[in-house]
Amino acid sequence: MKAAVVTAFGQPLQVMELPVPEPAAGQVLVRMEACGLCHTDIHAAHGDWPVKPTLPRTPGHEGVGIVEKLGPGVTDHGLGDRVSIAWLGGACGTCRYCLDGRETLCQDQVNSGYSTDGAFAEYAVVTAAFAVAVPPGVEPVDAAPLTCAGLTAYKAVKVAHVQPGENVAVFGIGGLGHLAVQYAHIVGGTVIGIDVEPEKLALAVELGAHHTVDARATDPVEAIRRLGGADVALAFAVSPRSFEQAFASLRPGGRLVCVAMPADGDLSIPIFDTVIKGISVIGSIVGTRGDLAEVFELHRLGRTKVVAEGRKLDDVNAAIADVLSGSVPARLVFEF
Ligand code: NAD
Ligand code: ZN
Ligand code: ZN
Repeated sequence: MKAAVVTAFGQPLQVMELPVPEPAAGQVLVRMEACGLCHTDIHAAHGDWPVKPTLPRTPGHEGVGIVEKLGPGVTDHGLGDRVSIAWLGGACGTCRYCLDGRETLCQDQVNSGYSTDGAFAEYAVVTAAFAVAVPPGVEPVDAAPLTCAGLTAYKAVKVAHVQPGENVAVFGIGGLGHLAVQYAHIVGGTVIGIDVEPEKLALAVELGAHHTVDARATDPVEAIRRLGGADVALAFAVSPRSFEQAFASLRPGGRLVCVAMPADGDLSIPIFDTVIKGISVIGSIVGTRGDLAEVFELHRLGRTKVVAEGRKLDDVNAAIADVLSGSVPARLVFEF
């Protein structure tokens, strides 16, 4: 099978032939139909974070495809089912986090495309219980970006507890941000989209943003303060400066949700303002299998729109360069 593999950090991925993996007990083999290119895959390929993947590694955690083979003991899925392969590829199932609905905080988890091989390949194996069913009516090219970008944006809006009429500032209208605009809209937020690319701001308006700020031309903190300040700021831009702006744009009672993970990632916040204004700073990591089922259902009901462009896996390095240059629609999706 063809796979795109990270063999050295910071070097181009190698598109190579690998044997089709065998599903072990409890796993299924998935024939990939589509896989989105998440910015996290780029961080993985660059070795950006303190915990690095072991190499060689096949990235990809927005995989969608058809179950083609069952490992021993699998009862969760049948042959021919359409499933997704998300970042959370496994968790212990018995710790306090797994038991109380916070499985993404499990300290004994598997991460697709990071701690195990992912979906930048014609086939991948995944633990059946962590492969979330893609409902009929949700196309693979939409389901793929929903599997991480949609899920993570949805969860960020959830943990922010947005109330109707609150100002929700979405920093970074990329893969995650373009879906966050829509979820914030669904829960009744007044949405402010912030990006450095004019096309992304136009997209935010198309998807329901009430205001936009071009952070390259205008100081977003001033612009958001003129709108009354943000009750919620969602940080999706891969830029520490943008996190500082997101924090500074909050009004009393505001919540900053940290989602992006820039390589150099220190956020320094003033203690006095945080205390006096009752500010919350929240880290949010992907979402649970239950959250993903909700994301798929909202899409099936026609409540969200995925903006994506198809690419070939052979062009993986050009696709990464395009994401980094900011010259892509919200998401790129490899189609198999
Ligand atoms: P993306 O590249 O698709 O989008 C980033 C957007 O930010 C782009 O539209 C870009 O133009 C914009 N941007 C860049 N600099 C900016 C600035 N200074 N101000 C405002 N906007 C700016 O990336 P993505 O796939 O949406 O991922 C975003 C980040 O979220 C990455 O760091 C990724 O690793 C991380 N991520 C985190 C989780 C999680 O669970 N916490 C899940 C998925 C992705
Ligand atoms: Zn656990
Ligand atoms: Zn992702």
